[in-house]
Amino acid sequence: MSEMFDIVIIGAGPGGYNAAIRAGQLGLKAAIVEKRDTGKLGGTCLNVGCIPSKALLHASELFETAEKRFDVLGIKTGGVALDLKKMLKQKDDAVEGLTKGVEFLMKKNKVAVFLGAGEIMAPGKVRVTANDGGTSELAAKNIIVATGSEVTPLKGVEIDEKSIVSSTGALDFNAVPKHLVVIGGGVIGLELGSVWRRLGAKVSVVEYLDRVLPTMDGEISKQFERILKKQGVVFRLSSKVTGAQRLKSGVKLSVEPAAGGKSETVECDAVLVAIGRRPHTNGLGLENISVATDARGFIVTDNFRTNIDGVWAIGDVTHGPMLAHKAEDDGVACAELIAGKAGHVNYDLVPSVVYTWPEVACVGKTEEELKSSGADIKIGKFPFMANSRAKTNHETDGFVKIIADAKTDRVLGCHIVGVGAGEMIAEVAAVMEFGGASEDIARTCHAHPTRSEAVRQAAMAVEGWAMQI
Ligand code: FAD
Ligand code: NAD
Repeated sequence: MSEMFDIVIIGAGPGGYNAAIRAGQLGLKAAIVEKRDTGKLGGTCLNVGCIPSKALLHASELFETAEKRFDVLGIKTGGVALDLKKMLKQKDDAVEGLTKGVEFLMKKNKVAVFLGAGEIMAPGKVRVTANDGGTSELAAKNIIVATGSEVTPLKGVEIDEKSIVSSTGALDFNAVPKHLVVIGGGVIGLELGSVWRRLGAKVSVVEYLDRVLPTMDGEISKQFERILKKQGVVFRLSSKVTGAQRLKSGVKLSVEPAAGGKSETVECDAVLVAIGRRPHTNGLGLENISVATDARGFIVTDNFRTNIDGVWAIGDVTHGPMLAHKAEDDGVACAELIAGKAGHVNYDLVPSVVYTWPEVACVGKTEEELKSSGADIKIGKFPFMANSRAKTNHETDGFVKIIADAKTDRVLGCHIVGVGAGEMIAEVAAVMEFGGASEDIARTCHAHPTRSEAVRQAAMAVEGWAMQI
């Protein structure tokens, strides 16, 4: 007879493993199923996403700092050299350590782990097919689908993870490509493009729309593009790749204007396809019980509930930003709802960070979104050029922008380009979660000299009294 669980979670990414931890904390009997062939838990994020990309961003940033910025600080080195093998190994070590940490957390919270592909056979019934072909059946009062997302393919540019790679291949080039063409000027393209540029590649970005990071605040994405151009990244905006031909060594791409027109040829050593991700649902058995999906394949949910009783969906496989912390919050709230508690996620306040140098971070609404909704707003800005810590550290690129309601002063959005932006945004997110006003930030004492004083000055600027500019 199959074992009965309160919850069977399919997929052990940040959505799934955090749902499992919360379920364990709440005394529910939980199981988690993961099909990754390495047997490692942690999903895309820990294995081939957030963690390995941040490990390479950190190391390559230090490499470039040592190469180009130490001199400004009066530090002499005997010449900086790259040991790519070792850099990749420390990235793999970070992944190894953190995935082991998730295994430990499953044990600690008494979550049963099943390695293999999960398929929903009927409501309350999941079949697990292990890599060796063996099967087992799990019975569940509730099933949470947390199967995440996969790379969106691009017609005519077939990924081989050698010369034409997805983000996964771009985490493991065994040599620095001379010329890397990135298709898609979104988060993955700019983060991984930055890694390889810092390590010595020429990087060209082909973006379909007329600006990079197109979902971010317009002013922020324009300024960020200028900063990246200054660093040497080449942009081909409003352009599309229509085909790729593998050469003996390298790739020949056909690039043309997004609106159509004359095609050009671009030769390069490697191509990174980073045009977005799509929900991962193949082999999951959604059709066996008619779980509803939308036209793009995302599972349709209402507060994590699908159209089938006892079947829930969280994280990248359902709607909302495809971010690890959003998946995590979904997982926690979904487990709480199953346990009869009031689980809830505030999707208006999911921060987003691009971990480049400098970083880009935002929370809440953009100026464009607010203006098009007819909102009456006021805006405060402050450049890092006028922030004492930024000047002292020779890291003055970027600015802080705070948008507040013109009448109530409630903060509606914050957008930052600048070193440390990813840490600074948390302050504003917390203020916004409490329904705070720009004046709340402006009147909060901030330590000096810190970069976060720029956030306070931008908040002061909302009401026209920024003091240090
Ligand atoms: P996933 O992490 O995708 O996990 C789903 C798991 O389900 C996978 O392990 C998969 O093997 C498993 N699975 C699928 N089908 C089955 C099945 N039938 N049976 C069993 N198991 C199955 N987000 C951030 O917030 N910050 C970042 O810095 C960041 N960097 C990223 C960098 C890269 C290169 C990429 C690709 C993504 C990055 N993301 C980042 C996005 C982040 O990784 C995802 O939003 C997050 O992993 C989604 O979590 P999830 O639990 O929904 O799904
Ligand atoms: P994305 O949606 O961020 O960017 C894709 C870009 O490709 C967009 O700018 C889009 O206009 C462009 N594009 C689409 N089709 C194109 C085409 N045919 N030719 C040229 N350009 C085209 O997607 P991504 O960068 O692939 O990242 C996928 C997901 O992973 C994102 O949702 C992101 O949130 C998540 N992620 C997050 C982080 C982070 O939080 N730091 C890091 C990496 C990935």
